[in-house]
Amino acid sequence: MADFPDIEPVGPAQRRTIIVIGAGVVGLSTAIWLQRAGHAVTIIDRHSPWDVEAYRGASSFGNACTMAFGACLPVAMPGILKQVPGMLLDRSGPLSIFWRDFPHLVPWLWSFIRSSTPAQVDRIVGVLGALLRAAEAGHASLIKEAGVSDLVRNTGCLYLFRNEQEFQQARSGIALREREGVRMEILSATQVAEREPRLAPRYHKGLCFLDVYSLDNPYRYVLGLIDVFMRHGGQFIHGEVDQIRRGESHIGVHAGPDWQAADQLVIAGGAWSATLAAMVGDRVRLDTERGYHVLFPEAGGLLHAPTCYPVHGFYMTPLTEGLRVAGTVELGGLGLPPRPVRTEVIERKVRRLLPDVGPAGRTWLGFRPSMPDSLPVIGASPTDARVIYAFGHGHIGLTLAGISGRMVAHLVNRQAIPLDLTPLRINRF
Ligand SMILES: Cc1cc2nc3c(=O)[nH]c(=O)nc-3n(C[C@H](O)[C@H](O)[C@H](O)COP(=O)(O)OP(=O)(O)OC[C@H]3O[C@@H](n4cnc5c(N)ncnc54)[C@H](O)[C@@H]3O)c2cc1C
Repeated sequence: MADFPDIEPVGPAQRRTIIVIGAGVVGLSTAIWLQRAGHAVTIIDRHSPWDVEAYRGASSFGNACTMAFGACLPVAMPGILKQVPGMLLDRSGPLSIFWRDFPHLVPWLWSFIRSSTPAQVDRIVGVLGALLRAAEAGHASLIKEAGVSDLVRNTGCLYLFRNEQEFQQARSGIALREREGVRMEILSATQVAEREPRLAPRYHKGLCFLDVYSLDNPYRYVLGLIDVFMRHGGQFIHGEVDQIRRGESHIGVHAGPDWQAADQLVIAGGAWSATLAAMVGDRVRLDTERGYHVLFPEAGGLLHAPTCYPVHGFYMTPLTEGLRVAGTVELGGLGLPPRPVRTEVIERKVRRLLPDVGPAGRTWLGFRPSMPDSLPVIGASPTDARVIYAFGHGHIGLTLAGISGRMVAHLVNRQAIPLDLTPLRINRF
């Protein structure tokens, strides 16, 4: 875990009123770090975190629950361009695009492909590596204060390869991870069988990420965070933000019937943040990588640790509520309903990997907030420095939420941080 400087809270004279839009795990973590930095904070969200049905709309509800400290590789790796035709043709693949969605995706895909050159990937891995090394410094105290240490499962996480060719293809990624200090162990098929005896023996080698942990229930973490926030005098407003006005002395935010005023604004609206940024006057190349989960309620005891075949693109995460199989990427925007073919494919594949998995239960569609280069947006608006952005965390928003919030608090207090935020600026595309 990398050191991160303590935040020095401001005194009453510098105390500011700050609105955070978004009660996902990024917005909640940011709001608490801002309180710790000495400020009076209000969160606005159209979904109340206490209403579990409504909160399913947030990406923070249904993810694969892993604190993925080794996930420093971007989605767009060298060679991704060759995969695009396959994505368009195969609706059951780990990455898919539906033809109907293709035209609106072209600018995002263009930047995605341009981010996949070896030089860009090398740079991006360095940025992600530094963020991930700092990530635990953002979470540890939040988990403790939220009283959810019992959710932490320190089991590591297992990647599986079906044959030597797949393993060899992963080698360059393993080398990049090693460069970033990710602790891993390569396992033989026999060692995998000893660790995970209920898995069908459809593997050749395993790769164990030693420092990864999972949260038994990310929604309970969310409830713990909002509880901490309220205990520290936070205010929660339930409403949809549809206008932002930048006045000279205050920023106005319109949600529901009322206007709220604050000295500063943080936009942490996940995949919906481009609309909010536009209200400030900023454009951003944000889209969504839709992902699904299928819960197998009787299978929570079948695996020891979150397990993933990279070739299938999903994690099988053992939880108290069952086995949550979460992942895959579907490029298809925010407006369309779930596509059942995607969860049917997940279910079919899981039955082959874990024959005893039992009946399937709840399915879920979530919207990852994704930038083409797999890096989040953290930093002040170029249009108005009183507005700070914290969104675009893609596949690792649970992992990076705490440190993102901590960095925002340092920015607001103008206190130095040991990370360069230039690669995370909103207008980098
Ligand atoms: C299938 C899947 C698996 C994943 N697995 C992992 C994993 O194992 N580890 C990991 O680290 N990450 C994982 N992720 C990614 C992670 O879940 C997300 O990156 C993270 O939850 C994003 O958090 P957020 O707070 O930015 O967004 P969200 O949780 O989506 O929250 C955004 C909030 O903003 C609110 N909002 C937006 N616009 C407005 C508006 N105009 N007015 C009011 N409210 C508004 C929304 O209602 C929402 O509640 C996964 C994601 C998916 C889909």
